[in-house]
Amino acid sequence: MLAFDQARKLILDSVKPLDPINLPLHDALNMVASEPANAGLDLPSFDNSAMDGYAVRSVECTDAGEKPVSATIMAGDRADSVLPEGTVVKIMTGAPIPPGFDAVIPFEEVLSGQDDKVTLSAVVKGQHIRFSGEDIRTGDCIAQAGRIIRPAEIGVLAATGILSVKVHRRVRVAILSTGDELVEPCESIPPGKIINSNSPAIAAAVLEAGGEPVMLGIAADTRDSLAAKIAVGLQHDMLVTTAGVSAGERDLVREMLAEAGVKPLFWKIDLKPGGPTAFGLKGDKPVFSLPGNPVSSLLTFEELVRPALLRMMGHTAVLRPRFKGVLEEDVEKKAGKATLLRVRVRKDGDVFRLSSAGNQQTGMQRTLLLADAVCLLPSEATLLNKGELLEFHFLHDSSLMMTVEG
Ligand code: AMP
Ligand code: MG
Repeated sequence: MLAFDQARKLILDSVKPLDPINLPLHDALNMVASEPANAGLDLPSFDNSAMDGYAVRSVECTDAGEKPVSATIMAGDRADSVLPEGTVVKIMTGAPIPPGFDAVIPFEEVLSGQDDKVTLSAVVKGQHIRFSGEDIRTGDCIAQAGRIIRPAEIGVLAATGILSVKVHRRVRVAILSTGDELVEPCESIPPGKIINSNSPAIAAAVLEAGGEPVMLGIAADTRDSLAAKIAVGLQHDMLVTTAGVSAGERDLVREMLAEAGVKPLFWKIDLKPGGPTAFGLKGDKPVFSLPGNPVSSLLTFEELVRPALLRMMGHTAVLRPRFKGVLEEDVEKKAGKATLLRVRVRKDGDVFRLSSAGNQQTGMQRTLLLADAVCLLPSEATLLNKGELLEFHFLHDSSLMMTVEG
């Protein structure tokens, strides 16, 4: 059976970043630049004052004599007129330095004076001036290809007059739940039926990863229904189905995907929960068939689909950061299945401490609610002893923040 890490490698080797698109800057947050985004202007774009104070010509300030104030320049004013020699100018932070002036003396350093005359302290040429281009030059690379556009990049690009950036576009993920037992939320649930909860859960996980979910609803466990929905699903960048991939009598998803031209790469992996997870390609379009069980489908999404989605959006780092924690109790598992142990994480000084989040049976959704993180326990392991050091990753940024902040 295919090992979990081989399955993930196979998936990541099969997908590549989607075509670049030009996006307005304000829509590009958290997307990945597909080519360098360069500055459109020098920053600062003109010499300006870094302080509220007086602009001077430094050669005229070698003595501590009284100087007349010939003008006041506020931020936003223009300062292109030539001012009389031997005078100083009251200037505010961000205001342009007038021609010929080359230093600013902050108000705090003024020795004495009224509105129209001041006695200034000694000055060093260039002091308290932010010079044109000293921060950023026109054409400087602000976000390299492959870098995530953060608020900082958006701010600097905006400051240099850039209105849009080229990024790898969001993956449009078609989500199809399959099963005769499923109904969409309704007032009275017919006997024997259950509410389709995989679609909203997977859609939320897609959104959180930065993708764009497309809801295909429910396919019945029939060839016609599956064929019709799969055909629509294959028109998007990725298709994710849930259920119908086990050994049940009506588990037709595998067969119907093959009929739609999806080439299977694997149909089972060594993982619990998540054994009956399948992956295939229609051309270069990835198709994931996740198990129906809500815990299995969310965990396999997290471990296998999410990294692929991130890679398709141009991310180079696609796995959550791993940490090590001390197991606080003995944990038994069956040999021969790699297992995703759902755990709670507590920070104790510099040490992470891990305990089971509850009943580890796949059907138990509460355990996933209580879990901060998962540990991948190796296939061959049987008993994990209290005190063992295990690798884990958080399931959500909020859990990481809460645990680390305490
Ligand atoms: P299956 O993979 O078809 O054997 O389904 C496994 C379990 O998951 C069954 O108990 C199904 O009823 C349940 N299940 C399948 N699809 C969904 C869904 N979309 N929402 C909630 N539960 C589901
Ligand atoms: Mg089923």
